[in-house]
Amino acid sequence: MSDTTSRTELSALGEFGLIERLASSIQLQHASSVKGIGDDAAVIDPEGLQQVVTTDMLLEGVHFDLGYVPLKHLGYKSIVVNLSDVYAMNATPRQVTVALGLSNRFPVEAVDELYEGMLLACKNYGVDLVGGDTCSSRSGLVIGVTAIGAAKAEDIVYRNGAKDNELLVVSGDLGGAYMGLQILEREKAVFTETGSQPDLAGHDYILERQLKPEARKDIIELLRKLEVKPTSMIDISDGLASEALHLARASGLGVRIYDEKLPIDPSTYSTARDFNLDPSTCALNGGEDYELLFTIAQSDFDKIKGNPSLTVIGHMCDVANGYFLVNKEGGLHALTAQGWDAFLKRG
Ligand code: ADP
Ligand code: MG
Repeated sequence: MSDTTSRTELSALGEFGLIERLASSIQLQHASSVKGIGDDAAVIDPEGLQQVVTTDMLLEGVHFDLGYVPLKHLGYKSIVVNLSDVYAMNATPRQVTVALGLSNRFPVEAVDELYEGMLLACKNYGVDLVGGDTCSSRSGLVIGVTAIGAAKAEDIVYRNGAKDNELLVVSGDLGGAYMGLQILEREKAVFTETGSQPDLAGHDYILERQLKPEARKDIIELLRKLEVKPTSMIDISDGLASEALHLARASGLGVRIYDEKLPIDPSTYSTARDFNLDPSTCALNGGEDYELLFTIAQSDFDKIKGNPSLTVIGHMCDVANGYFLVNKEGGLHALTAQGWDAFLKRG
């Protein structure tokens, strides 16, 4: 669990000692963070902007397995998945709070590792950790993160703003995080059965996509620079198919996605083949890629054309035309919101 040699019991520090230890390594960066850790509540100055607030929970055994996820990566990811939701509103994240349920199985050193990852993500994305809560848990590690962001009212992008015929665009590539998870689960099973060391060689990209995802802050900045404001937007946590359905339904439209347009990295593609999986299915339902999916007006196409980080994968259509994936031959397959939990047959 922790590769440090010393082990300090949580009870040796106590809740207040632990919080003091965390607080001592935090320096606030935003003028909007008026008060951080240390009072009954943090104080945030909205500075005349609208604030967006989002929370995500990560539960041991449901969302992560400490058998193969290092705590530092887990801390990093727990912050990033929340920031991704703030960017998906076209807002800038500025603060986070962290609620932890810790079992006494965890030494202080494990909490340090977790926070190292969290604080690295906060630093990389320019966010202040301004508070949280710490409890003991009897059922494994529980991490709840709340992210708070800000934007001008006119800049915020909702899920329901897409119009008929607009282009559906996705950032980066899809299916990698899911294939990374398949590799980790396979190697864990081999280790459990035979005790042989995991063979992760050659899978760096997809393992990183699973273990150390990034939120697409760069895409939000790119779109601003290109003067493209998406008409609707969502981040891809549960898989492209599910998120495209969210945009279409919220906007009262149908959607067409073209199979041959799906951006899939060569390493994702070849690993899917090794596992006898259809790469397109992995891209559509894999989840946890944390890419941005958005719609733009046809008139904005020239501004994004040829950008290697952005791919037009389809378009919106009248709701009467339904929700479909179009294959090379023009055949239609119904898009279904499998979501990644169902896809993985997890609890
Ligand atoms: P209270 O009992 O009034 O809720 P706490 O003792 O839980 O206060 O928290 C004291 C301070 O420490 C608060 O500012 C709170 O936001 C912060 N805090 C508590 N737990 C954490 C944590 N896991 N990470 C960051 N800050 C925390
Ligand atoms: Mg409290």
